[in-house]
Amino acid sequence: MNFEIGDKIISKKTHPCGGNVWTVTRVGADIKIKCDKCGHVVMIDRVAFEKIVKKKLENDSDEKKK
Ligand SMILES: [Zn+2]
Repeated sequence: MNFEIGDKIISKKTHPCGGNVWTVTRVGADIKIKCDKCGHVVMIDRVAFEKIVKKKLENDSDEKKK
């Protein structure tokens, strides 16, 4: 799966705040995601990240970039 900054993903596990939607704010060897509900930021390596992702939300901005 390919991820870009600004992508929104749903995590398998719900964050303690009750949210499960995250925005990707940095991509590289490590990926930084921000909880959409409480704003908590987590840095996680790519392998671990792909394991916690349930699905990626499609958005319109992806279409415009192509
Ligand atoms: Zn949260």
